[in-house]
Amino acid sequence: MKECDFLVIGAGIAGASAAFRLAASGKVIVIERESSAGYHTTGRSAAQFLESYGNFSTRCLARGSRDFLLSPPTGFADAPLLSPRPVLHLARPDQMDRLRAFFDESAASIPGVSLVDEPSILDMIPAIRPRYAEAGILEPQAMDIDVHALHLGFLAGAKGQGAEIALDAELESLESKAGRWHARTRRGDFVAKTVINAAGAWCDEVAGMAGAKTIGLVPKRRTAFTVAAESLDPDVSFTPDKWPMGIDIDEAFYFKPDAGRLLCSPADETPSPACDAQPEDIDIAIAVERIQAATLLRIDRIEARWAGLRSFVFDGSLVIGPDPEREGFLWMAALGGYGIQTSPAASRLVAALATGETFPSDLEGIGLSAADLDPARIE
Ligand SMILES: Cc1cc2nc3c(=O)[nH]c(=O)nc-3n(C[C@H](O)[C@H](O)[C@H](O)COP(=O)(O)OP(=O)(O)OC[C@H]3O[C@@H](n4cnc5c(N)ncnc54)[C@H](O)[C@@H]3O)c2cc1C
Repeated sequence: MKECDFLVIGAGIAGASAAFRLAASGKVIVIERESSAGYHTTGRSAAQFLESYGNFSTRCLARGSRDFLLSPPTGFADAPLLSPRPVLHLARPDQMDRLRAFFDESAASIPGVSLVDEPSILDMIPAIRPRYAEAGILEPQAMDIDVHALHLGFLAGAKGQGAEIALDAELESLESKAGRWHARTRRGDFVAKTVINAAGAWCDEVAGMAGAKTIGLVPKRRTAFTVAAESLDPDVSFTPDKWPMGIDIDEAFYFKPDAGRLLCSPADETPSPACDAQPEDIDIAIAVERIQAATLLRIDRIEARWAGLRSFVFDGSLVIGPDPEREGFLWMAALGGYGIQTSPAASRLVAALATGETFPSDLEGIGLSAADLDPARIE
């Protein structure tokens, strides 16, 4: 039986970042079911930092994460965590109303956002089919995230402060007795004053073990794959490395340069049970059709393919904070499609709430309040 102050369930980006923040305040143990941390959604993302993504609270968390990602603590990572990867939101003539609405809601709060015309779009991504896009919105300060380095930095930073990471340690039962949580796993038993539920798509399952009310979490499958950036015209060759990420304004597809290849997605959101998600041929076919309608890319061979679960609650906001009924049980759940880019701020918040500190003033200063993310908002 091992004792700790904070028992974190799950070693994805949520659990790893929470452990990193909490390790300064007490003994932390992270338990992870798989033999490697980051096997599920964290290891399957598109690795993008995009401040316009998601609703108001999610945007605040991304904004509150930018400084950490740009200037992490000394020794956190060997190389920069972010590198420039502007994003170009593409609108066909029939999507211009959506483009204007998106511009109106983003222009004031996202640095450098601008409207661009078709010649500029073709200049930035020469593979776009002429006359496909009427206009676009450029987010010049969007970035690629080195997800592996970020995740590893959190885990190594937590360990450096005395945290333990127990792999192959699936939580099997969780019970509160005399003010302490007793956890049974395949790797032994753990006792903790405080539990952080960071189990990704399985957060409601873990809540069930703890006797807490579930939050109506819906894991949604998203598919991704890589292809060579080949042109339909044999006399044209594309060099995509400097292209921005191209996203349909209604998020019906996206593609971005990825180590000399293009990472593509139909941006699917298919509800799924919590599981080891696998890509479906139909979703790949849909993405290929949409991307080929928008571009002059020839896609006849899929290289790597994968899928992951993005988990949401009813309002699309993250769920961060103490359970309203089960004392010492905190949620860090429903990270949706934003868990990597919001992890520095989200983890700071969960640690503040777990240790009784006040709500981070910088997050409050940009308009975020604890109520926006509070599990108690979910009836
Ligand atoms: C295709 C795709 C593209 C994406 N692109 C982006 C992007 O560009 N930018 C961005 O910020 N986000 C993106 N995301 C979202 C991001 O990946 C997620 O929000 C984030 O990884 C969720 O992290 P997590 O730690 O909550 O979940 P996970 O990474 O799934 O971690 C949860 C962990 O809990 C463990 N666990 C579960 N149950 C138990 C148990 N009983 N006992 C022990 N351990 C348990 C699991 O094994 C798992 O390792 C994308 C996601 C997908 C699928």
